[in-house]
Order: sequence, then structure tokens, then C-alpha cells
Amino acid sequence: MNIQISLIQKIDALLPQTQCGLCGHRDGCLPYAKSIAEGEEANKCVPGGQPVADALAELLNRSKLPAEESVWPIQNDGRPQRMKAIIREDECIGCTKCISACPVDAIIGSGKLMHTILTDLCTGCELCIPPCPVDCIDLVEDLQAIPDQQARIDEQDDLRSRYYAHIQREEKRRVHRKGPIVRAEIDTELFAQFASQTDNVPDIQLMHKEAPPVLDAKTTIELAKLRVQIKKLEKQLSVREDEKKRLLLEQLSLQLIQLQGA
Ligand code: SF4
Ligand code: SF4
Ligand code: SF4
Repeated sequence: MNIQISLIQKIDALLPQTQCGLCGHRDGCLPYAKSIAEGEEANKCVPGGQPVADALAELLNRSKLPAEESVWPIQNDGRPQRMKAIIREDECIGCTKCISACPVDAIIGSGKLMHTILTDLCTGCELCIPPCPVDCIDLVEDLQAIPDQQARIDEQDDLRSRYYAHIQREEKRRVHRKGPIVRAEIDTELFAQFASQTDNVPDIQLMHKEAPPVLDAKTTIELAKLRVQIKKLEKQLSVREDEKKRLLLEQLSLQLIQLQGA
């Protein structure tokens, strides 16, 4: 394996996988890991706090730097307080914007229905809060016990995997334009490249829109004529039914479909 890729994977393995973007890399831990390997300072992961900054300095054989400060108090393990988001469900209008924003797919719900956060999965990254048009998401302290090292590694592996699955789903939504897309700036190619070389994360397939067929001038004119005729017939038929015109409309519509696929 490429040495640089292996280094980025080692750095990424130390990052919390909250995908919050507080390090300045809006599309998550992997882009920050890549940037650290290219020389960026390794003390900017806010939820990781001092323990992560120190672990990175050790891995990279660099001097230890004070970690970027969090707005939350520091827990016993030296990291900032873990938080969870909660939706005030009676105020939710079911717009689905928070679903697209949540990097680890911790929110369930569908269009125009109340949404709920699966609190076990929520990392408190806060990314669902700004897109909510009715401001009905609160952050509360996570009261669960601080995880030990193995539990943290398992959690990070799970969050990484969920994020890659989320990126794949958002990539499909981007192409098919289903629902609001809140984090369209994800560098999907970078994640796809790493997914193909990393165990225990889903592969990511890049989706490309099929280019519409290039039509010659004659076909374009023919299509325009057909559309005008169809529109005219539809208008006439909306006023009075006429068997011959109905038949003609069906024939012209068929011709239009055939020509469009030419
Ligand atoms: S968890 Fe840390 S490294 Fe990952 S996106 Fe947030 S601040 Fe950046
Ligand atoms: S529910 Fe909100 S705070 Fe929790 S992980 Fe998802 S986006 Fe982050
Ligand atoms: S963004 Fe807010 S209003 Fe929209 S579905 Fe999520 S919680 Fe409900």
C-alpha cells in the first residue's frame, strides 16, 4: 500500500469520527487526516481534545501542542463533554433537512412526518441544528459512562462505517435529486478512494449523471414542432372530446418519445 495512504489511515484511526468539521474540514475526519499528513498542525480536533492532539503528535513525532478549545467543559478522560441532540418532536414539521445533515444517519423519519434521533448513535456533532427551519433540536449532556479505549475504537469504527454509507446515499440523492441535500460539498472521490483501500467500511461508488443524447438540428426542429402540435391538441381536447384528435395526440406523443430517444 502507498506509504502516504497508510499514514493517513493511521491518523484517521486516532480521530473521533464525529465528522463534525470543527477542525476546519467540513467534510469530516478523513480530509483532516489527509491534511495533517501533508503538514497541517495536528491539534485542531475539538471533540478529540488534548488526548487526540497528544496521540497524533506522538504518531507523527512532532512537538505536542495545546488542543483547540471546546465550548464544553472537559471530562475526566481529558476530552470535552460528550453531547447528544434531541428533537422536540411536537414542533418538528418533517422537512427532512436534518436527515441529510446527519453524517452518521442517527435520525429517522420521512417527509412531512415527525423525526426522531436515535440517541445511541448521536455523537452531538451539532450538524443537524443549523439546517432545521423551526429550530426544534436541542443539545443535552450525554450521561452515559465515558467509554474505555476498546469501546472507543469500536465506536469510531462504527461511526466511520456509517459515514461512508451516508456518503454513498447522499451521492445517490445528489444524482436523483431526492429530498434536500444539506452537505453537498463532501469530497466523495477522496472517500471513495479510501473506501476501496480500507477494511470494514462500505465501498463508495461515484455516481455520474447520464449525459442527454446530442440531437442534430433536424431532430431538434422536428421535436419542437411535435411539442407545439401536442400542446395545441391537448388544449382543444380539454374543451371538447374528439375521437380523431385523441388518436392523433396519442400518435404524436409516441413519435415524440421515439425521437427523444434517437
Ligand atoms: S471529529 Fe475531529 S477530526 Fe473529525 S471532523 Fe470533527 S474536529 Fe475534525
Ligand atoms: S443527530 Fe444531529 S447531533 Fe446527532 S449525530 Fe446526527 S447530526 Fe450530529
Ligand atoms: S430539520 Fe427540524 S423540522 Fe425538519 S425534520 Fe429535522 S427536526 Fe424536523
